[in-house]
Amino acid sequence: MAFEGLAERLQGTLTKIRGKGKVSETDVKEMMREVRLALLEADVNFKVVKQFIASVKEKALGQEVMKSLTPGQQVIKVVNEELTALMGGEQSKIAVAPKSPTVVMMVGLQGAGKTTTTAKLANHLRKKHNRQPMLVAADIYRPAAIKQLETLGKQLNMPVFSLGDQVSPVEIAKQAIEKAKEDHHDYVLIDTAGRLHIDETLMDELKQVKEIAKPDEILLVVDAMTGQDAVNVAESFNEQLDVTGVVLTKLDGDTRGGAAISVKAVTNTPIKFAGMGEKIDQLEPFHPDRMASRILGMGDVLSLIEKAQTNVDEEKARELEKKMRTMDFTFDDFLEQLDQVRNMGPLDELLNMMPGMNKKGMKDLKVDDKQIGKVEAIVRSMTKKEKQDPSIMNASRRRRIAKGSGTTIQDVNRLLKQFEDMKKMMKQMTGMTSGKGKKRGKG
Ligand code: GDP
Repeated sequence: MAFEGLAERLQGTLTKIRGKGKVSETDVKEMMREVRLALLEADVNFKVVKQFIASVKEKALGQEVMKSLTPGQQVIKVVNEELTALMGGEQSKIAVAPKSPTVVMMVGLQGAGKTTTTAKLANHLRKKHNRQPMLVAADIYRPAAIKQLETLGKQLNMPVFSLGDQVSPVEIAKQAIEKAKEDHHDYVLIDTAGRLHIDETLMDELKQVKEIAKPDEILLVVDAMTGQDAVNVAESFNEQLDVTGVVLTKLDGDTRGGAAISVKAVTNTPIKFAGMGEKIDQLEPFHPDRMASRILGMGDVLSLIEKAQTNVDEEKARELEKKMRTMDFTFDDFLEQLDQVRNMGPLDELLNMMPGMNKKGMKDLKVDDKQIGKVEAIVRSMTKKEKQDPSIMNASRRRRIAKGSGTTIQDVNRLLKQFEDMKKMMKQMTGMTSGKGKKRGKG
């Protein structure tokens, strides 16, 4: 998972300050030194790091005091807010043309994931926005790109416009848009040609396609694994084409996260989507605030809820979120959540979104299905009272539960410990996310 290294380092740094009742200027400076190193190590652009640190320092030292937060938490809150701002602040949505069809031009270097993302985006638009997209195969240079898009189109049961690889991309785009109008498609996604490197021919051709297609959106697909290179690529494309948005692919991979954090600041182009895997449904709208929370180990409860929406009603999910925030979270809720989580996708991915779950030492809970079964068996062997209040769990109760669930006392102990840790972490975060607006004047 992306950001793991950065997340760990930042969390380590922040933990030191978290509970502090008093934070001195030296504390803040010391901490900023570590944050700075962590960001540089994550391959964040050095100019961006410099600005970021300066801005956090200024705000952390001159901020207003909030009733519900300790000074340590306030510093973390500032880091969180600045990180969010750095990645674009508000979520940036895909364009909708006033008159159909909305034309989206997909651009990027070969191998970045452009063709895959084109299909993923079409799937997203249909599934989440009820749209009827048409795909256009205009990548006539990469061998098999057309075939690949056609295969993906078939898989999605979605039309793919193609004229083979002997017709110019400009002509393909022109005819495709005509066809989309005829067939009443509301989105046209053009998979343009990539190259291995940026060169003039490529840019010229893309400019011509832009001229003809008059796209409402030019989405640049970049590979997050390439770090600063991705940022440089984005800069070049942006200079030539005025890109309107970036899709960062392979954020599921072992990336350091630098690209995600720098792209917006360097190019002033928002990240609109993130690719989280090779599968067709592994494209997520990019939410800077949620991403920041994930990096800082504050969890991403909202994304979790969104994933859950197909299986859970919203009311219930919100209630759950509230419980998590207010410490009322019990083993009963845990079980309920487990059931829902099972239907939602790869467990690792989901657990990563939960507060505290991607912290070191919590990795035992990042488990395979078999182990989840074990956890579930333990919880199901608890009495109602035990589930509501694990603090009553004495040795004989633990023994009984282990026996009842076919596990060992160590297993039971471990789970209880993890559950308590998780709750503690949630408690610490409560102030940070719900403290907004409770100002007490200048401090
Ligand atoms: P293109 O040359 O830019 O059109 O690249 P492709 O769409 O063919 O993608 C190149 C490779 O990256 C393929 O193997 C894709 O499955 C893979 N890929 C694309 N997006 C993602 C992603 O978000 N995560 C992962 N892990 N792989 C991806």
